[in-house]
Amino acid sequence: MLHRKVILAIADGLGDRPHPLLEHKTPLEYAETPNLDRLASMGITGMMDLIGSGIPVGTDMGHLILFGYEPHHYPGRGPIEALGIGMDVQSGDIVLRCNFATVDENGIVVDRRAGRIREGTVEIADAINGLEFEGVKVYFKPATEHRAALILRGIGLSDKVSDSDPKAPNDGSPYHLVRPLDSSEESKRTAAILNLFLAKAHRILSRHSVNAERLEKGKLPANFILTRGAGQMAQLEPITDELNIKGSCIAGESTVLGVAQLAGFEPITDNSMTGNIDTNIELKAKMAIEEIAKKDMVVVHVKAPDLKGHDNEPFEKAKAIERFDQMVGIIAQGLPEDVYLALAADHSTPCEVGEHTGDPVPILIYGPSIRRDRVMQYNELDCAYGGLGRLSGNEFIRTLHGLMGRVKKQGN
Ligand SMILES: [Zn+2]
Repeated sequence: MLHRKVILAIADGLGDRPHPLLEHKTPLEYAETPNLDRLASMGITGMMDLIGSGIPVGTDMGHLILFGYEPHHYPGRGPIEALGIGMDVQSGDIVLRCNFATVDENGIVVDRRAGRIREGTVEIADAINGLEFEGVKVYFKPATEHRAALILRGIGLSDKVSDSDPKAPNDGSPYHLVRPLDSSEESKRTAAILNLFLAKAHRILSRHSVNAERLEKGKLPANFILTRGAGQMAQLEPITDELNIKGSCIAGESTVLGVAQLAGFEPITDNSMTGNIDTNIELKAKMAIEEIAKKDMVVVHVKAPDLKGHDNEPFEKAKAIERFDQMVGIIAQGLPEDVYLALAADHSTPCEVGEHTGDPVPILIYGPSIRRDRVMQYNELDCAYGGLGRLSGNEFIRTLHGLMGRVKKQGN
């Protein structure tokens, strides 16, 4: 079998709709994208529905599919976030997303983000990491700013438990006791253990020196942990093992890096990969070329188009796309002969909606002896005429795996 390699460049939230401020073009049509268009003219294009037409997906689900899993493999947001911040997540673990928060003496949530705490979270987290309740070990680690993740490890646990977080915009209401969401013993036990943890954490954090200092400076103390989104880590085989390949993922966003680790891809990041329009595209492109020399598949991710879609900033979104175009241009220049360069997005984030939608996204594959189509530009309207047609996310990724020579023959 002829084995080849793939670099997959993902523009987060790239897909959009014609916008009145952009002469009724989409941001991708409006943007100056000479590199994307050159690849379109030399490659094969199409449209992709990540799961199915009209179904919006989150960045975590979108990437789970782009890394080669099926939608039903989704392990929940908690496990993905925990992996993304470098926690050791094991099969069977219950993982929750958390906020450092401020509650008053009556359990009223004064601030769900503890004054958007930035400093001292590592020290505070250390004070409650490693606690044990009824044989269940609790691991706790801070993420960016007020965010954190929590793992419960032990036997007889379930992810069918409610959130203690009253959720935005509910500052001023009491935190919720965790309740079982079904009648199983596992759910009851998990809810009880979480409530014990929350009470103990509150006692420890209320006395913590970081919070004493915060109070002295007139800042809100991080004296409570709000939990949400419990998920149980499933037994998933890394895609890299399944295909017998080696992979790397270059990204600034922890969600993407978390999915990458699940799939067996080596996560590669740098402080200059900001997840915004100022992200270091030159470094990303350089590393993509370096990594593909050692690996079979490299995923390189750019977040900014999604952010600008959420903010309904069509001109800014076009600018973010131009940065993506520059990155792809550098990668294309350094692309070895046996490597395909593929373009995709994890979902559409149309400016006029400000949220993810199920509009299909443009896809493209360029590389050795590819069946070229007649499409000359990479955008939502032209790629609809492309030779790949309209594929699901799984079909698109399988197409790439097929070109890599990694899909098993059916029959004899
Ligand atoms: Zn996304």
